[in-house]
Amino acid sequence: MRFSAAGRVLAHALADALFPPRCAACGVFLGHPGRRPPRAAGDRSDMYRVFDALLGGMLCPDCRKDFEAVTSPLCPCCGVMFPSRRGADHLCGRCAVSGHWFSAARAVGAHEGSLREMIHHLKYGGCVQLARPLGRLLYALFRRAWTPEDVDLVMPVPLHGRRQRRRGFNQAWLLVRHWPGFAEAPAAGHSGPLFVRNALVRRRATRPQTGLGRETRLSNLKGAFALAPGASVDDRTVLLIDDVMTTGTTADACARVLRAAGARRVDVLTLARAMG
Ligand SMILES: [Zn+2]
Ligand SMILES: [Zn+2]
Repeated sequence: MRFSAAGRVLAHALADALFPPRCAACGVFLGHPGRRPPRAAGDRSDMYRVFDALLGGMLCPDCRKDFEAVTSPLCPCCGVMFPSRRGADHLCGRCAVSGHWFSAARAVGAHEGSLREMIHHLKYGGCVQLARPLGRLLYALFRRAWTPEDVDLVMPVPLHGRRQRRRGFNQAWLLVRHWPGFAEAPAAGHSGPLFVRNALVRRRATRPQTGLGRETRLSNLKGAFALAPGASVDDRTVLLIDDVMTTGTTADACARVLRAAGARRVDVLTLARAMG
């Protein structure tokens, strides 16, 4: 017993020496993981506390501080955060003029700094171990912004088959798989939303949206999504999940298909929101 305990300690020490833990965002070696600097008093969002609890131990002190939670004042429709940190939530100019097919979009944090880096490592760097803490972070916002009983279906924004095969996974689905109560086939007596992976399909590959203007984004996505054969969203409240929301055109294209198929309401939840 004593020997195996000592062996474990030795094995851990050896593993740390051979593979010293690195910051999950910037990659610097972590000298003393777990030492978390206190946040300044007066933070208006407890998502900072949640972020620290879930990811603080994997990040260097700089990257821990380099997270900006989405806080009021924001646009209650598209979720964009206003540069001025004073005043109440109000519709942004874009939503006031043209609106969206979805009703409310919310994101955990700004698409900047360590959150952006970790999402990038998850999607392109094969760091699937980040899916659990990032998924739990997403869940924390879900519980703060929605009443689970009010959401019937949770579904990821789909990738095109070819892109998903190349990547091996849909990052949005990977995130919700780590939610407490996640079940694709719920047991009897199940309450709360159903998680549906393939209700929406991407009919064709689209060019990456990055760097495209709004009009080009819209035409790029025309007809890109469809309801899967046999899927039904009739009279359901749907929560769409994605890793990042930029202008909202992708979420809008999905929401439009869902609303046309009879969905009562479509909301959007993402890890990050570009605040451009
Ligand atoms: Zn770092
Ligand atoms: Zn807006």
